[in-house]
Amino acid sequence: MLPGHPYIHYSNGTLHVEQCDLAPLANQLGTPLFVYSKASMLAALAAYQRGFAGRNAQICYAMKANSTLGVLQVFAQAGCGFDIVSAGELARVLAAGGEASKVIFSGVGKTRAEMRTALEAGIGCFNVESEAELEVLNAVALSTNVRAPVSIRVNPNVDPQTHPYISTGLKGNKFGIAHERTLATYQRAASLPGLHVVGIDCHIGSQITLESPYLDAMDRVLDLVETIEAAGIPLEHIDFGGGLGINYQGDTPPEADALWNKLLTKLDVRGFGKRKLMIEPGRSLVGNAGVCITEVLYTKPGEQKNFCIVDAAMNDLPRPAMYQAYHGIVPVQQSSATQQEVVYDVVGPVCESGDWLGRDRPLAVQAGDQLAVLSAGAYCMSMASNYNARPRAAEVLVDGATAHVVRTRDTLQDLLRGEVLPPASKTPD
Ligand SMILES: *Cc1c(COP(=O)(O)O)cnc(C)c1O
Repeated sequence: MLPGHPYIHYSNGTLHVEQCDLAPLANQLGTPLFVYSKASMLAALAAYQRGFAGRNAQICYAMKANSTLGVLQVFAQAGCGFDIVSAGELARVLAAGGEASKVIFSGVGKTRAEMRTALEAGIGCFNVESEAELEVLNAVALSTNVRAPVSIRVNPNVDPQTHPYISTGLKGNKFGIAHERTLATYQRAASLPGLHVVGIDCHIGSQITLESPYLDAMDRVLDLVETIEAAGIPLEHIDFGGGLGINYQGDTPPEADALWNKLLTKLDVRGFGKRKLMIEPGRSLVGNAGVCITEVLYTKPGEQKNFCIVDAAMNDLPRPAMYQAYHGIVPVQQSSATQQEVVYDVVGPVCESGDWLGRDRPLAVQAGDQLAVLSAGAYCMSMASNYNARPRAAEVLVDGATAHVVRTRDTLQDLLRGEVLPPASKTPD
């Protein structure tokens, strides 16, 4: 087993996801290829479920981490709700067999059309992010004749000590309502006839590896709950968001059940232990369930750097380019002792210097070898693009020894879909 990846291991010299050998799979289906372990996702979910045993809690998978239908189905069948950020994500939930009533709709920029679609589908809650959004949601609800269940996202102003692009709970962020405005916003929401106030939510950031930001945020949110309820506005649920980190490079985030033991103790002490709780984990449910297999196309020695050029790129794995993120990279075929390790920058074929997947990695590889990019289950395929007119990769969901293709590779026809050429203009004589 690879450290931190209990469902990924070497067996007979090749890397396996559960009981599935990645070498023949990649030979058959081509590369780049995403492969996910169903058991790994369910184990990550089980840690949260253990943490909440005996509580009134709803786990809503934050599907922007990985919105592939085959992945959504795993969580829908396990009883999860979903945290969505667009009407497109709602359509995907419904297509995967999820229930609208267990869906919460987050995001700072919901359109009127998206609100109407979500109301008509009967979603569980809108997590409203601004005072202006409240007014628009009220108007849409009145015109749709469905009262909108709302929670207000509050900004607890705690530093999750993660990458600045993925901290969301600080004053300078675009997310949520400032602490000072919270009561006034709830009073306004409670006065609007199209809205039904049901909860409060926060989400302080992503890839959080410490407990303390969660404990601090919980205290601040509970202070607000007390203030809001003292003003005569009852809240059915409290939603603590997502954000728990995973092990990318020796990171040691708390286990979900251990973290929630501490948080639930605080809730009990403060008298909120019986309240309905919601959480919105994304990355921690899927991140380390997935790998991306890629083939070495060329090795290119240089004076300052050696490059290992592979067939996956920033359009498949955008996190290094976006956040300078680290992904482990390991060979699919365990190298023979005779092959020499060379330190490479592992880069893709895209025409951007930002197109790298790993820097300064010692690898014993040659053209034709396969590599596995680790921790590729979250924020990879869901962020993938067709940049450089590259087809998006295929995806496989492994369940024991069975490999289900859950998305086929884009074809060249797919790349042209929806585009229309204007009539050719006459060439001047
Ligand atoms: C992205 C997001 C999440 C999930 O974050 P992870 O770090 O993937 O757990 C949860 N809630 C909201 C509102 C989000 O935007």
